[in-house]
Amino acid sequence: MSNHWTTCYLGLGSNLANELGSPIEHLQQALLSLEQHQDIRELRVSSYYASAPMGPQDQPDFINAVVEIKTTLAPLALLALCQELEKQAQRERVRRWGERSLDVDILLYGQQQIDEPALIVPHAGLHERNFMLVPLRELAPELMIKGQPLSAHPLSADWSGLKLIE
Ligand code: ATP
Ligand code: CA
Ligand code: CA
Repeated sequence: MSNHWTTCYLGLGSNLANELGSPIEHLQQALLSLEQHQDIRELRVSSYYASAPMGPQDQPDFINAVVEIKTTLAPLALLALCQELEKQAQRERVRRWGERSLDVDILLYGQQQIDEPALIVPHAGLHERNFMLVPLRELAPELMIKGQPLSAHPLSADWSGLKLIE
């Protein structure tokens, strides 16, 4: 196994409670699993944000957070882990961009650009989504994405539809 640790950012979201817990508890459980994973270290978590839903509007607001990790997992192995966490939260697919107990997306994998059927990195929606960019900037104000400073991206300081959860 590689012992090279790559800094990655994951976006977590939930807007559905189930028998396993509330949206915040789904995020906390996912963070705990990441923390306990042997191929992941140095977790740093953003604040939790409430965000207006994307897509169908007849669903609850989301709770979003971004987590920074260092990992030896290859990109597709990290994606598999993200999907494992969703499964652990009993995510069910209801409708596109609909309600879910847990969504875990890979936002950035080091400085790598990946364009595969199953995995696009940086995440294809990153540049249009303030609920990813604002927490990302909170964690990593100096971050560069494809050679551009994150802080120069207008949406990284756009709080429309966002609220900090105390
Ligand atoms: P969106 O991708 O627009 O945020 P979503 O999160 O609701 O929407 P999902 O149904 O969770 O979409 O995922 C659909 C597919 O996206 C996954 O099966 C996965 O293979 C693919 N995918 C591509 N790039 C990524 C990425 N960077 N992180 C997570 N999944 C990705
Ligand atoms: Ca998503
Ligand atoms: Ca997803």
